[in-house]
Amino acid sequence: MNNTNTQYETVVGMEIHVELSTTTKMFCRCPVPTLTDKPNTRTCPVCLGLPGALPFPNTKAIDSCIQIGLALNCTVNKDSFFERKNYFYPDLAKGFQTSQFLHPFGEKGYLDIKLNGATKRIGITRVHMEEDTGKLSHATVDGKEVSLIDFNRSGVPLVEIVTEPDIRSGEEAKIFLTELQKIIRYLGVSDAAMEKGHMRLEPNISLRPVGQKTLAKYKVEVKNINSFVYVDKAIQFEEKRHKELLDKGKVPVQETRGWNEFKSKTVSQRSKEEAHDYRYFPEPDIPPISVTSEQLSVIRKSIPELPEAKAKRFVTEFGLSEYNAEILTREANLAKYFEEAVAVAKEHNIDGKTVANWIINKKPNIEELLPASLVKIIVEQSTVERFDETKLEETIKQILEKNPTQVADYKAGKIQLLGFFIGQTKQALPNAKDTEQIRNLISKMLE
Ligand SMILES: [Zn+2]
Repeated sequence: MNNTNTQYETVVGMEIHVELSTTTKMFCRCPVPTLTDKPNTRTCPVCLGLPGALPFPNTKAIDSCIQIGLALNCTVNKDSFFERKNYFYPDLAKGFQTSQFLHPFGEKGYLDIKLNGATKRIGITRVHMEEDTGKLSHATVDGKEVSLIDFNRSGVPLVEIVTEPDIRSGEEAKIFLTELQKIIRYLGVSDAAMEKGHMRLEPNISLRPVGQKTLAKYKVEVKNINSFVYVDKAIQFEEKRHKELLDKGKVPVQETRGWNEFKSKTVSQRSKEEAHDYRYFPEPDIPPISVTSEQLSVIRKSIPELPEAKAKRFVTEFGLSEYNAEILTREANLAKYFEEAVAVAKEHNIDGKTVANWIINKKPNIEELLPASLVKIIVEQSTVERFDETKLEETIKQILEKNPTQVADYKAGKIQLLGFFIGQTKQALPNAKDTEQIRNLISKMLE
């Protein structure tokens, strides 16, 4: 059967794991390890899953999870509990992961993204709290191939965010993830550093004929990608692979694949059955978690102004373009720097637009240059420019008077003489560097 004329639509849902930057782990008081810690030095009976060890939830991590849920417009379940997700894998000493299933802390939310000048809403299915696993690595020791395991990461608080299958391309996934990362950083709950594995990404991809409303009968999950660019590439790779199979009348195998960044392709890892049999059941060692209205209102108040709202305010309050407002709100500390500089600049009658242009075009090192020092430079520079303008006019006037023949020739149509006048001006005033400004002034004076 040949269906090469069928047009397909890409359907992607994302699963995102975010490691929280708490000081201690999720269910014990071991410190969250750094990358330089020696293997298995940040462990205790709880995170090693030893029999009889009792877990004790980290309330700071739970608050952070709820903050993420609220920032993503989720409904918060005031009565929630942890559940055991049973599976056997060597990086999980307990034989189950403590997670949430029936009542995640947040569900049914959304995140609006900007796509081709319009707003598109991506549904958020759930935001739940769980724990990270240990880390398995394969090495050769004394000539033998061995598997090594480091339990330092085991039990580090992990928030899982799951989206609805609302994403339609790799590019769209990238925009969504960039916006999500911004929000997580604004909340200060994680630095969401991709290279440190603080944000791990799994797109679920399928293709369906354009016009079909139901989901395809298969989906392919690409595991543990650590860059937005690779998510985009993995989705594009899968789109092409699925189309080729579908065009031949075949259905892609439902499976888990991995992204090989060196070959720029996905590779099959394991095919999976229709649904996992995780046999979730309530964690008997942790009492149910109740979030009171008072607690919820405290958490709600702790959420700072988020990037989208801030960008909108920069447009209305300071008259910035949407483009500049977006650049200045990418990082919370840059937005803060801008606002501090604007406050100082106001005293010198310099507006927000001028400050924004300076920060964006001249890229000052905001770690080193204080906002007030930046404003001082802007004030000095603008004084110099005003002085130059008068001085420039005076100098050009003298040059024109000294060269009446060239002036006459220029007026007769020999406009290339403009270059001669610019050269003369620059020679007389080596500090006058703005050629555009000089050219405009000379043209005006020769009219
Ligand atoms: Zn521990």
